Amino acid sequence: MSMLVSILRSLRTMIYGDGCIVCGGYTEEGMHSICNRCRFDIPLTNYQLETNNPVKERFDGIVPVEQASALFFYMGGSRWQELVHRFKYSGKWQLAYAMGRWYGALLRESGLYDDIDVIVPVPLHPLKTLKRGYNQSRYIADGIAREMQLGIDARSVRRVRNNPSQARRSASARWENVEALFSVRSVESLRGKHILVVDDVLTTGATIASCIRAIQEAVPDCKVSVAALATTIHHENL
Ligand SMILES: [Zn+2]
Repeated sequence: MSMLVSILRSLRTMIYGDGCIVCGGYTEEGMHSICNRCRFDIPLTNYQLETNNPVKERFDGIVPVEQASALFFYMGGSRWQELVHRFKYSGKWQLAYAMGRWYGALLRESGLYDDIDVIVPVPLHPLKTLKRGYNQSRYIADGIAREMQLGIDARSVRRVRNNPSQARRSASARWENVEALFSVRSVESLRGKHILVVDDVLTTGATIASCIRAIQEAVPDCKVSVAALATTIHHENL
């Protein structure tokens, strides 16, 4: 990079902050925001606008959910896949938070999520959290909570074991594999509430369904909805 370009970039950073958190380009809102071009480019599902949608259908007959949606489609090899990798594996938790705020604003505008009481991020196993340094779903949840003006409960549900890779398993083996991954340690704090369970990427839905099942078994009088930041398009049935 030439000296001139480098100086101009530094000047721009001084004036505008870091720019768009997705592409690094100029954005009027400044640091850690998402520019209009990225907002236009991203393959949004808009599933938050309708109760019956393909994400909600993944849970049909498995666990009862009120509403379920995902912000965008997760496609292998796309820059949106890379975006998820950046906040999952490269320490860019600010990106998870910024995307969460965007999604939270859309959930608020949809009207279907108005009676949510509390947000529960899908917990990672403590050892995994320690290794990664953070739970990315917690930052997505923080962003959503900020826009929806709701509280987060990251303590009542915990992950009691890690699930090994699901990739090579059959659908039924996957289910056995995710049984009893989660436990609820504070029933009282979830009783009678409508809980929004937040995750990063929905693939088969087996892990999040396991989390919901643990909640519903421990707290029978609660309602659960799902917000995943991204969803795969093709999936095997659960
Ligand atoms: Zn951008």
